[in-house]
Amino acid sequence: MNISVIGTGYVGLVVGACLAETGNDVVCADVVAAKIENLKKNVLPIYEPGLEDLVARNQQDGRLSFTTDIPAAVASADVLFIAVGTPSDEDGSADLQHVLNVARLIGRSMTRELVIVTKSTVPVGTAGKVAAEVARHASFPFHMCSNPEFLKEGAAVDDFMKPDRVVLGVDSEQARSVMGDIYAPFVRTGNPVIFMDIASAEMTKYAANGMLATRISFMNDVANLCELVGADVDMVRRGIGSDSRIGPSFLFPGPGYGGSCFPKDVKALIRTAVEIDTDLLVLAAVERVNEKQKRLLAAKLLAAFDGNVEGRHIAVWGLAFKPQTDDMRDAPSLTLIETLLEAGATVCAHDPAAMHEARHKLGDRITFAETNYEALAGADALVVVTDWNEYRHPDFGRVRESLSQPIIVDGRNLYDPAKMRELGFGYYSIGRASVEHMVAERVSGTA
Ligand code: NAD
Repeated sequence: MNISVIGTGYVGLVVGACLAETGNDVVCADVVAAKIENLKKNVLPIYEPGLEDLVARNQQDGRLSFTTDIPAAVASADVLFIAVGTPSDEDGSADLQHVLNVARLIGRSMTRELVIVTKSTVPVGTAGKVAAEVARHASFPFHMCSNPEFLKEGAAVDDFMKPDRVVLGVDSEQARSVMGDIYAPFVRTGNPVIFMDIASAEMTKYAANGMLATRISFMNDVANLCELVGADVDMVRRGIGSDSRIGPSFLFPGPGYGGSCFPKDVKALIRTAVEIDTDLLVLAAVERVNEKQKRLLAAKLLAAFDGNVEGRHIAVWGLAFKPQTDDMRDAPSLTLIETLLEAGATVCAHDPAAMHEARHKLGDRITFAETNYEALAGADALVVVTDWNEYRHPDFGRVRESLSQPIIVDGRNLYDPAKMRELGFGYYSIGRASVEHMVAERVSGTA
């Protein structure tokens, strides 16, 4: 099948490479010439495990190519995926300008009957807007499909190659049959391809992200309550996660959700409701909790320094919004760092993958270290923001020696509070600190 993917970012590149891997001829197109030139040389614009090999192999075998010539990419396609960005507009709604620009070009450049697939996350009704824009210029029949993407950055290739399910909103038998064919190799173990109407497919993506964001904010709320009432959120998490109705995923408290999807998709869904004069009360609260949670690490650190970090030098481990990615969009580390800089502290940070992105966002306002231990040099305290595996078992002796004050704020509950106390750290984590404090008090009270 001749497939073109317009927009070669996290999603477009993974989709293009994986569809080439199953034998299709795929053209990936983007407006950013430097990105395309690099991709032709197998230099990837993003860090994503397994993707580099996939791109190199399929490019070498001639099934995958890259271009800035979007009309040519449209002209050669039987199936065309739109995978451009849909960032938040000022009012929180999804900005559809890139999607509709592509739609216009499709109408003008198509040379045959086409299945047009919206892969970008777009509000209900967008496929209709794309179809109207295409139809204004088109001289060939076309079919619409809404195919939301559920891949997780950091595991994107695996998620695409072995999806839990594929959701396809279609408006014709032709779209149903072509899209079913394309996805057949990815669901050979029996995971479902769920066909539905286009509006439901568009809504499914937002509802999925809304649900996941809700679990995170709910657990963050519970964690903060745990601290106040003397419970340990880690125990509570295990206690509720083993209930098959609840399940263990997405129950980890932390510094708030970030990344390119949850914040903007929650906002966009709330905005969809506002536009039709109704409310999404749960999601409004989810967003409020998250804004509060993103300020928590800075608040804990400030409290550890009696409210004043002016002149302090703080080491930060982890910048990406989650491990295994270099994505810094809406990362909680940015809120922490901005707050610390405003409060007069200096920051040295380390991240295994995101330092390039971080330099781009923060410039020379902070310094960067090549290793996590180097980040500790001259630091007064350490804040752990991202749960990269390499931060899980550090040499605590070395950490203790490097820090002028043995203070660690752990935004991911990576370490054992009792052990940290034993090692002499002032250790602040999420939803567990008061338990430690109360246990300590009880023990000393009865002694
Ligand atoms: P991205 O910013 O990484 O990539 C978008 C790409 O589109 C960029 O390379 C940009 O240059 C290109 N582009 C913009 N306008 C263009 C145009 N007119 N023609 C050609 N290319 C154009 O974004 P992303 O993270 O890949 O997300 C793309 C869409 O997929 C968004 O709607 C997002 O919500 C959704 N999505 C993202 C993820 C994720 O984890 N990143 C997961 C599921 C869904």
